[in-house]
Amino acid sequence: MSLSQSNPKIESKVKSKSKSKMFARCTLVVLASLSLLVATPSASRAASKFIAIGTGGPTGVYFVVGNAICRMVHKEAAEGRSKGRKHGLRCSAPSTAGSNYNIGQIKAGALDFGVAQSDWQYHAYNGSSKYKGKQFKGLRAVFSVHPEPFQILVSKKSRIKNWDGLKGKRVNIGNPGSGQRGTMEVLMKIHNISKDAFKQATELTSSEQSQALCDGKIDAYGYTVGVPNAGVAQAADGCGAKIIDLKTPPIEKLVAENSYYAFATIPKNTYKTTKKDVRTFGVKATFVSSTRTSNAAVYEVVRAVFENLEDFKKLHPAFQHLEPKAMITEGLSAPLHKGAVKYYKEKGWM
Ligand code: GLU
Repeated sequence: MSLSQSNPKIESKVKSKSKSKMFARCTLVVLASLSLLVATPSASRAASKFIAIGTGGPTGVYFVVGNAICRMVHKEAAEGRSKGRKHGLRCSAPSTAGSNYNIGQIKAGALDFGVAQSDWQYHAYNGSSKYKGKQFKGLRAVFSVHPEPFQILVSKKSRIKNWDGLKGKRVNIGNPGSGQRGTMEVLMKIHNISKDAFKQATELTSSEQSQALCDGKIDAYGYTVGVPNAGVAQAADGCGAKIIDLKTPPIEKLVAENSYYAFATIPKNTYKTTKKDVRTFGVKATFVSSTRTSNAAVYEVVRAVFENLEDFKKLHPAFQHLEPKAMITEGLSAPLHKGAVKYYKEKGWM
């Protein structure tokens, strides 16, 4: 999001019949110094470039990804510091509706970067699935981050044991714009069911769904998120919700046929109710941008992350296994952004 600086305009009207020349002169002096005062910060701001990174719900891992990236961007080049890099980037990573919202906002030029599931990166770039007729050719991959297993959490009371058990129940299918909403729709499609199969299909956000599950307002929810996650812990540790195994023949076919999906395991003891490994499938969280974002900005962001990767990894347990080789290849289907390629070549990684 490039914020262009508008120059403040101060218009002065000098009346032909002013009461005193002295007054008019004073007014002009005051106006001139006012315009100087206003112009000075604007001139120094011209060197800054604002970059905005779309994330996800405030209790998710995407929010940590975006803010960890901003932290690295500001680390060496905080404003007003005499030493360090002079890239002039000011970074912010607001909470958003998630993957598909981020991709849409990047396309519209309202966000410069975003975090998105690898399946939705693939579909947006190739114009498939929900992007049919809405292909986004300017989408660019930057790097991938942590794995995100798709998880169905069920309340203790619901006694749901598998995918079929969701029928006739109150299921949160996720807020529009989120990655899990899209993936849930894919799952419904391959199992030949619609929302009507559920007693109720709610559209709560990721930060609302665990409370709703614990309060007995819904029986289950679907969520694509890194492990561990505070929101999932709220339900699993807080009110005995379980993550069910997801291994149906249609899911096995889906994973076998699509490179952006992989089988995934949530290790036992991750949460109080994961007494044994949970078998499911998942995607990668990826960091994306577009051809509208300058090579220089992407280069600086990528450089800040990889030069400080050890610090970055400490900011969330889901980041602990990150390593550059996998980050620049796995889960990426749009072409790499030129600014990222420049840095990866400098490092000899490409
Ligand atoms: N995968 C989710 C989405 O695409 C977000 C997960 C998170 O916030 O960590 O919307």
